[in-house]
Amino acid sequence: MVFEKVDANDHEQILYCNDQSVGLKAIIAIHSTALGPATGGCRIWNYSSESEALHDVLRLSKGMTYKSSISGLNWGGGKAVILGDPRTTKTPAMLERFGEFVNRLGGNYITAKDMGIDADDLRSIKKNTSHILGIEGEKNSSGNPSPATAWGVLFGMQSCAQFAFNARSLKGMRIALQGLGSVAYSLLEHLTAEGAEVIGCDIDEATLEKAVKQYGIEIVSPDAIYDVKCDIFSPNALGATLNSKTLPRIQAKIIAGAANNQLDTPEVGYALEDRGIIYAPDYAINAGGVINIYYEAPAQGGYQKAQAFEHVKRIGQTVTDILERSRAERTPSFIIADRIAEERVNQARKLKK
Ligand code: NAD
Repeated sequence: MVFEKVDANDHEQILYCNDQSVGLKAIIAIHSTALGPATGGCRIWNYSSESEALHDVLRLSKGMTYKSSISGLNWGGGKAVILGDPRTTKTPAMLERFGEFVNRLGGNYITAKDMGIDADDLRSIKKNTSHILGIEGEKNSSGNPSPATAWGVLFGMQSCAQFAFNARSLKGMRIALQGLGSVAYSLLEHLTAEGAEVIGCDIDEATLEKAVKQYGIEIVSPDAIYDVKCDIFSPNALGATLNSKTLPRIQAKIIAGAANNQLDTPEVGYALEDRGIIYAPDYAINAGGVINIYYEAPAQGGYQKAQAFEHVKRIGQTVTDILERSRAERTPSFIIADRIAEERVNQARKLKK
């Protein structure tokens, strides 16, 4: 049954990690090492079943292959999940042991932070492996990825604007931000500096108050954000907010935001194309954080922020390339993004043979 799932998306290797003495049950999935070491964060989550954990790690590791590939990084895709409750079952001993398993893979998998894992947890993992990146507060760390992600979304939005309105400038554009968290708040700073008119929403009252006080933006309820008359709709909260219920309500010409897995189903991607809405594929436009951390890898010679942010800026060109090819091939942008990512991986595979 595992091989069936692994075959479905051509994963290279799955490592089940088990140590009852420290309560560790984890799965590390390496989707591809064609372009370089399989890199992707580790999350701890209270999965309802082992099969759900396997499904998640396979899906996420494949996603990392595509994100790194489309961003021009020499990294493959990997991910790790620890089965447990981040609040009650996570211990330093468990994480240290997990680090030993990461180390056994000899650098084929590089780990980092994901849901439920904080900088102290990464320090525990690091006790037993050097194949780890993105520990905030450590020397040479690339730090919080959100500003880099927001920087990339900004350039991606400008490319969409150029494509849709023949003008890169966001001045005077009405932009609806769904969520005003870590990435979106940083994006908000850029958008207001550009002279955009921002309408935002969030479920957190303190965040809303701060945004109104600092930037004077208009706020609507989380549900009303879909009905806002705007040029750009920007999902920056949860996944799957573009679905059959919300799509008919969206009035924007462009959808461009940082959230992962924005399309609930592929059908939604086709429906966007039918309605002539320009969609910036999520993993291409939100890759700023991964690009930033890439410049922390020893192979890059130590973290250089300027170099990293220069690379993040190239997300603008990546989005343009996707949109132009999408138009030329009359194929939705999310399909084109997959094709571009796969072409690079397949080329690297051929060269390795
Ligand atoms: P975050 O948790 O800081 O922000 C998310 C915000 O969304 C929070 O303020 C939360 O209150 C709000 N929110 C939750 N439910 C909402 C709803 N129904 N309506 C409106 N707002 C709601 O997270 P983040 O780091 O800013 O990431 C945002 C999204 O971007 C996530 O999907 C994340 O996976 C993705 N992403 C983030 C990064 C990064 O560098 N942080 C990189 C790539 C992708």
